[in-house]
Amino acid sequence: MDAEIITTGTEILLGEIVDTNAAWLARRLRDLGINLFYKTTVGDNEERIAFAMRQALGRADVVIVSGGLGPTVDDVTRDAAARATGRPLRLHEECWRDVQALFARWGRQPGENNRRQAFLPEGAVPIPNPVGTAPGFRVPVERPGRPPAWLVCLPGVPRELKHLMQETVEPWLVELLGPDRVWIKARTLRTVGMGESAIDAVIADLMRGSNPTVGLAAHLGQVDIRIAARARSEAEADAMIEAVAAEVRSRLGAAIYGEGSEELEAVVARLLAERGHTLAVLETNTGGQVAQRLRSTTEGGRVLRGAWVAASVAELPTALSAPLVSAAAADELAQWLLASEKPSVALAVCGTLDPDAGPYGRYRGETHIALAWQGGAEHHRLDFGGTGEISQRWASNAALNRLRLWLLA
Ligand code: ATP
Ligand code: MG
Repeated sequence: MDAEIITTGTEILLGEIVDTNAAWLARRLRDLGINLFYKTTVGDNEERIAFAMRQALGRADVVIVSGGLGPTVDDVTRDAAARATGRPLRLHEECWRDVQALFARWGRQPGENNRRQAFLPEGAVPIPNPVGTAPGFRVPVERPGRPPAWLVCLPGVPRELKHLMQETVEPWLVELLGPDRVWIKARTLRTVGMGESAIDAVIADLMRGSNPTVGLAAHLGQVDIRIAARARSEAEADAMIEAVAAEVRSRLGAAIYGEGSEELEAVVARLLAERGHTLAVLETNTGGQVAQRLRSTTEGGRVLRGAWVAASVAELPTALSAPLVSAAAADELAQWLLASEKPSVALAVCGTLDPDAGPYGRYRGETHIALAWQGGAEHHRLDFGGTGEISQRWASNAALNRLRLWLLA
């Protein structure tokens, strides 16, 4: 089954309102295994909406339209649907009774424009709207030698659209799909500390499969692996994903830090809390970002002990106020934090501030990550530096990851 989505509204067309309905509808159709090849946005213009509807009905089995069902003059979807399907608008008695009953409950009389909302293209099936005034509807469009295509019109208010789609349209679509109903499910494994190409090299064979599909999405110093499967039942799709996920996990091991939308800082803060640790961080550039990210999590405030703000370089122990780039400085600062704040683990990140290396050398330089705890210390060198947004995000991911691996060890 092929579907299309048409969202209406001049505010949507001009970007004044973000079109969340189209994205949401697309995901719902995907989850039902229905093909989606086009999405169209049209302003509040009857002729252009009718034209977009006719075009879509020529390509798809089901066309879902959002918006323009309200009682005002700029709500023209009803008229456009009548025009596109060649079915005149008729007062739908049952809809009209529903609208009247709704107004009676509010102790009010429906006006003439509310009555307009009960006019549907002839032969349309109403889609009841218990959460708003405008009902939706679906209109069959005959096709020679094939079952009819359907034009499905839903209100634009996201809450109403979702309700009508989930309660009425989806069960109907499932019925229409019959044995073609498939389940498409997806799961995301999140990695850190390994580049996109390094991951690609390890799981390339899995990425060549077509069901499940395995794809990568790279962020700064963090890569997501998305596994999606299509199957005849939900359980089968889950099992297919699980088999691939287990294989990916066994190959990538500790590089995988979480799933779904889980953030690295949340995982680190949780591990610190679960294991009863406290952390002191030197809040310079990258260290500051690490502390800020941890503080934004649920456990963050509890595990951060005296995250130390270097208000000025002069505040640092004199021996360390020299250039912060040296590897030794990071180690000594971590030791100094450990001694002065007495956390169970201390983190210092030092690096080149802004290497004078021209426009493309902005991230050249180096960064040193030092961890210190009672009875041990470790040090990691990254071969980039700088205070740019990208290099700092990259470095703070690396520092959080070092903490995570230390906690797991
Ligand atoms: P109403 O009865 O409220 O007029 P309607 O079916 O006519 O409902 P619209 O007038 O198109 O719907 O939209 C009503 C409101 O819903 C918009 O002002 C906007 O806030 C929101 N909305 C409409 N379409 C979308 C969309 N595609 N994505 C997100 N929000 C939307
Ligand atoms: Mg409206």
